[in-house]
Amino acid sequence: MLTRPTIFDVPLDPVTLSSALDRAEAALAGQRLFHVVTPGPEFLMAAHANRKFRAVLQRADLSLPDGFGVIMAAWWLGLERLSRVTGMDFVRGLAARAAVKGYRLFLFGGASGVVARAAAALVREFPGIRIAGVESGVRGWVRLPDALVSWRIRRAQPDILLVALGAPKQELWIDRHRAQLGRVRLVVGVGGVFDYLAGAVRWPPRLVRLLGLEWLWRLVLQPRQRWQRIVTATWRFAREVLREKRRPHAVG
Ligand code: UDP
Repeated sequence: MLTRPTIFDVPLDPVTLSSALDRAEAALAGQRLFHVVTPGPEFLMAAHANRKFRAVLQRADLSLPDGFGVIMAAWWLGLERLSRVTGMDFVRGLAARAAVKGYRLFLFGGASGVVARAAAALVREFPGIRIAGVESGVRGWVRLPDALVSWRIRRAQPDILLVALGAPKQELWIDRHRAQLGRVRLVVGVGGVFDYLAGAVRWPPRLVRLLGLEWLWRLVLQPRQRWQRIVTATWRFAREVLREKRRPHAVG
């Protein structure tokens, strides 16, 4: 097998949106669970500091470079050329194929109103799509214990499971429950995708996405919640990439 490019020891796959969707679809015909992760700069920084999270990312079957910063870092580190495949584009592409082929989706995570609205938005945008179930991921009165959530997922028998608890929580949840998901063949940690689908957070305009400035967009919309995370994703990330470049690498 070819070695995959890595940043902070996290593999990143040089795929396009359509080749990533092809691989995901091929996995749906398989016998085992296929785990897709979508590392952006913030994600990689968390993996840098958290060994357990990093190990889960290393075991994942497909790793989509989700963020302009990751593409820039790969270029700067002289890695194989990567293309950006965002979690949002991947989910919508998956939904389009699911609507045609009849794959059933289960949505887990986000506030209860948000996950229901995200499912409704998918049904509107992709007529014929089959939603096997939804489950909120917010703790408190609304959120069910983990064992009950995995039981509900097993009982609903989806083909595809989307988990939106934010990183690293969603990846760790997937790793802990992978043996308890019944017929699920494809599981994806999708972060804030339900918020976007539900319209709870505005999706950036095309130009902002083309320029890779989603982080700036989010800073403008949610300055208080976001600024710390944005410092991590930009300045601290760039500093660590520079350190990684200086680090001697084993060849081969
Ligand atoms: N979330 C959740 N349970 C938690 C923590 C977060 O359901 O315990 C949801 C949150 O409501 C949001 C999603 O996880 O819908 C992703 O959050 P975030 O904006 O942090 O995602 P990212 O920045 O990683 O895309």
